Amino acid sequence: MASQLSLLEESGVEVLHFDVMDGRYCPALTFGAPMVAALKTSLLKDVHLMIEQPLGQLENFVAAGADIITVHADSTRHPHRVLQALGSMRNVNDAARGLVRGVGLNPGTPMETLQPLRDVLEMVLILAVNPGWGGQRFIESTGERVRQVREMLGKDVIICVDGGITRNNVAEVARLGADLIVTGSAVFDGKAPLDNARYMKAAIAL
Ligand code: ZN
Repeated sequence: MASQLSLLEESGVEVLHFDVMDGRYCPALTFGAPMVAALKTSLLKDVHLMIEQPLGQLENFVAAGADIITVHADSTRHPHRVLQALGSMRNVNDAARGLVRGVGLNPGTPMETLQPLRDVLEMVLILAVNPGWGGQRFIESTGERVRQVREMLGKDVIICVDGGITRNNVAEVARLGADLIVTGSAVFDGKAPLDNARYMKAAIAL
């Protein structure tokens, strides 16, 4: 992983996205805070929590060096409280930088969920596939959801699109208005990760 990570650093990518899955919120199981802590990198650490009841685990991920933490609005009965709690924590990499708080929306989560959370978030992560099931394609209505979030929350909110990104659609997703685009298997395809990462960077710059 360290060698793959150095390729990303070389490519000019700025953010490293961690998909944390607990096998309960979604079917897959990945890793927890020790993995986030173990990877030493100059990239910003963007931690996407697809876990049930994230409140009790926030401190572990903050201590592991997270710069961005996203929780899913429907992973807890108290999403506002979770975001409030995150807002009171310090970024261990640089206290002056603060932590970016993200709210994740599954393809089936109503957009209205964001309305009461607008004052306690800096980012909205829109999943373009359902989390934890393999082999899915980018859901086309994601573009409309990006537009709606921008209209509802304005230009200052960071919009992240996650899932189903390929060489073929990355430029289009950037044009839809995404500020942060997550891609995994389209870069780490077992062939040419550095070329893929550079291709993606160039595609969104156009
Ligand atoms: Zn993710």
